[in-house]
Amino acid sequence: MTGDLLDGRPKTFVFDLDGVVYVDAVSVPGARVTLEALEGAGHQVLFATNNSSRAVDTVIENIARRTGFTAQPAAIITSGLAAAELLVDDDEVCFVFGSDGLARTLIDRGIRVTSDHEQATAVVVGLDRGLTYERLTEAVLAVRRGARFIATNDDATYPMPDGQYPGCGALVASVERATGVLPVVCGKPNPPMVRLVALRVRHPEVWVIGDRPETDLAMAKAAGWGTILVLSGVTHAAGDVPDDLQPDYVLESIADLAAPMSARALRRKG
Ligand SMILES: [Mg+2]
Repeated sequence: MTGDLLDGRPKTFVFDLDGVVYVDAVSVPGARVTLEALEGAGHQVLFATNNSSRAVDTVIENIARRTGFTAQPAAIITSGLAAAELLVDDDEVCFVFGSDGLARTLIDRGIRVTSDHEQATAVVVGLDRGLTYERLTEAVLAVRRGARFIATNDDATYPMPDGQYPGCGALVASVERATGVLPVVCGKPNPPMVRLVALRVRHPEVWVIGDRPETDLAMAKAAGWGTILVLSGVTHAAGDVPDDLQPDYVLESIADLAAPMSARALRRKG
């Protein structure tokens, strides 16, 4: 059982980023005040994102520039880091079909990265806005030759102001389709991400705050953590959430979590 959100005991809050702390490059109103109030009240604040395209220092810069909140490196958990945890002990040589930020995430964790697909023992796929048919082909050839196929996440889309853009999952599907091989998926709600978040958690009571039920809320339920749905991102009403992923609480945005938990701002679902 997750306990009561309002009981004042120190808790760990795990925030998704896109659609929760900011939308595209704009802060959710009140984000900084909320995050600082939680830390000031003795709670632990973590950020867990399926976006693998940026290394930790860039994620920290983005949070700071958009919201004014300063996050510590240990508070940042990305699906790229979850992929790195999966690979780090196995002496893999990785071909990255993804961004430079993902490659740097792996290298920073001590993993060997190659641009030669013929040397690769693992292929790591992340969102790559600069993708080319040539790189896709090299990733496919490596997986067809037997390299491990690791997907940082399989989110089908990600929200932008003018609609849903193709997400990492759309690129993963291309490799899967061309190889007939199923990837190991690292991001929320899958075990590699749950394990990495669990390693960082400091308090026995954990709450996950997210806008996407099938990733954020599903991860929390897989781990036995509390669930808070915010309506500032891709989900606009609690009624849109499948029955098995219904959250413990529904908030308009994380601003409703501020100041030590003004009870009337919180709506328990149902
Ligand atoms: Mg989100």
